Amino acid sequence: MKTRDVIKLYNKYVMNTYSRISISLVKGKGTKLVDLEQNQYLDFFPGWGVSILGHCPPKVVSHVKDQVRKLIHIPNNYYNHLQARLAKMIIRISGIKGKVFFCNSGAEANEAAFKLARAYGREERFVIITMYNSFHGRTLACISATGQEKYKKGFGPLVPGFVHIPFNDIRALKNCLKKNPVAVMLELIQGEGGINVACYDYVMELQRICRQHDILIIIDEVQTGMGRTGKWFAFQHFDGFTPDIITIAKGIAGGLPMGIMVARDEVAEYFKPGMHASTFGGSPLVCKAALGVIDTIMKKKLLKNTQDMGNYLWEKLNQLKEKYEIIKEIRGMGLMLGMELKDKAEQVYQRCVDKKLLINLTQGKVLRIMPPLNVTRKEIDRAVYILETVLKELS
Ligand code: PLP
Repeated sequence: MKTRDVIKLYNKYVMNTYSRISISLVKGKGTKLVDLEQNQYLDFFPGWGVSILGHCPPKVVSHVKDQVRKLIHIPNNYYNHLQARLAKMIIRISGIKGKVFFCNSGAEANEAAFKLARAYGREERFVIITMYNSFHGRTLACISATGQEKYKKGFGPLVPGFVHIPFNDIRALKNCLKKNPVAVMLELIQGEGGINVACYDYVMELQRICRQHDILIIIDEVQTGMGRTGKWFAFQHFDGFTPDIITIAKGIAGGLPMGIMVARDEVAEYFKPGMHASTFGGSPLVCKAALGVIDTIMKKKLLKNTQDMGNYLWEKLNQLKEKYEIIKEIRGMGLMLGMELKDKAEQVYQRCVDKKLLINLTQGKVLRIMPPLNVTRKEIDRAVYILETVLKELS
């Protein structure tokens, strides 16, 4: 089978919901991907942040192989020791004194957070404030929460009760208090929104106001979590800041589908048996994979590697900025970096793909670069070399 045959089958049988690159991938290892025609790619945006240890990380592969023989799935009306161990681990690495709920994706974790916040509001308070330029997933409630019109168009009426305000704008938050909100939800680095980083003072003032008015703080760590920014979670960069709820997905199980909501004990207790559920959530197979991810990050000291390689990549990208007028700004933290271009972003992105460097383009102008946490200096040099070649050609 050739890629063109695969595309023909897609055109006939797969719903047309994605714009796809004409590459059909068959195997991967680390940052390397191979297509049907045996072309090799350097993947600096593996799985949109899912493949946080690169493709097919050995520990995840061995854990899955071992577990798939023993027990793949059991429903949540039984106990599962792997889920228990993973829950303990998530509480330990997040430092949140609370409990977790398991599901299968970022959108589901956010749905769980909306329901828990509404339960906390006891049907008296239900408004949830979110940010312009945010992205929280594709279910009806998640697109209602997301602060970008393009994701909502054509799907109305939306879920009521979401109010959007500008990001990093404390006055806008204060102006919204009259709506009697039960929660505020935000990403500390807006990923899809263009790698926009929350300011420390803003976050601390937001916390002060929320505590004063008993408003829950929900941090969407779907993209920023699991070490992506050089700490386990982005909120841990903000000294003295503790969210009430965080949502996790993407990298947590190294490529297998998992979502998690973590809530402080005083909030978590608003969920009682029967109020929320997920048939697949927290299966033994996926929990075992997630334990493999956490173990690898710890044993291989990958938070440190993310900080070091993040600094290295940051320097390299800033050197490019000095040289090429077309680059407006470099933003981000750890290995979640964005390069905003003044012009020709689509062409730069496309030429990188042609030269077999896989990155992402968001908001039509920001190149999003998120290599795995175990990326090496050599791989970064190679990626930056390709990017520079493209910038040179287009300048
Ligand atoms: N929240 C954020 C910040 C995301 O980046 C995403 C996906 O990109 C989601 C939520 C939705 O996650 P999922 O696609 O797993 O539902």
